[in-house]
Amino acid sequence: MSAEPAAPAQSPERLKLVVAGVTKVFKTGSGLVTALENVSLQVREGEAISCLVGPSGSGKSTLLNIIAGLEKPDQGEVLVDGEPVVGPGRDRMVMFQESALFPWLNVIENVLFGLKLKPGVTNRQRREVAEYYLQMVGLGRFLKAYVHELSGGMKQRVALARALAPNPSILLMDEPFAALDAMTREQLYIDLQEIWQKRRKTIVFVTHNVREAICLGDRIMLMSPSPGRIQDQFTIALPRPRDINSVEVARHAMEITAVIRRWNQPREGRTSP
Ligand code: ADP
Ligand code: MG
Repeated sequence: MSAEPAAPAQSPERLKLVVAGVTKVFKTGSGLVTALENVSLQVREGEAISCLVGPSGSGKSTLLNIIAGLEKPDQGEVLVDGEPVVGPGRDRMVMFQESALFPWLNVIENVLFGLKLKPGVTNRQRREVAEYYLQMVGLGRFLKAYVHELSGGMKQRVALARALAPNPSILLMDEPFAALDAMTREQLYIDLQEIWQKRRKTIVFVTHNVREAICLGDRIMLMSPSPGRIQDQFTIALPRPRDINSVEVARHAMEITAVIRRWNQPREGRTSP
């Protein structure tokens, strides 16, 4: 279809995303909370899905929001394609657990909204792009439906189309499937992997679910709380598409869960071999 933008040329030696020494401290009623302490990571161009995994409070959302430019770090910096992030931008689209669609707009209008300010594009081209991405997420027959007529999974599909349509350099996803039922979620895992294969976007995906991370991620960055840090990294080289119910995903999940358990074990509770 003519609306399909060319998949970007990729050179794996180029760094797409650099997070360098990022620290973020929040002032709360009960004192200072170090949400992130000296966090650094790099994602190369062409790396598919990098997952930030950790328990609640480990700073995953704070880190994603800093990459998105929605929060500012107290120390350190974020570079996307070599340029410092100073605020939100169309090159970094974010998808949250709640789809945050406009209820007064129908499906295609919601996707068009994000394309409104894109310069040098005719209304007809915008419509073609919006339709292309809605077809890609399986909603080609629901262009005129309203938000209240959609299931939770369909709403997240619209949100995904809306995030992809401006053709961002990086897609940031914060627990986007956490509120969905298991069957809907499992289909979305397959679809997201297919979409990645078509569009080759750099995706940073936040989750507290280890199996979900292994199903989706090429790289798993394990975060721990108080202060939020990246404790460990793993490469997952399983072939795609991966099925979350497969033995291979379960085996990797057991290994990574065992690593997390070891951090949490109180020293005095450990038995020596
Ligand atoms: P996660 O997404 O891994 O659950 P968050 O990034 O939301 O973790 O939070 C990390 C820590 O920072 C938590 O202790 C949380 O309470 C605190 N925090 C996050 N955002 C704020 C904020 N706006 N004000 C105060 N504390 C915050
Ligand atoms: Mg969070």
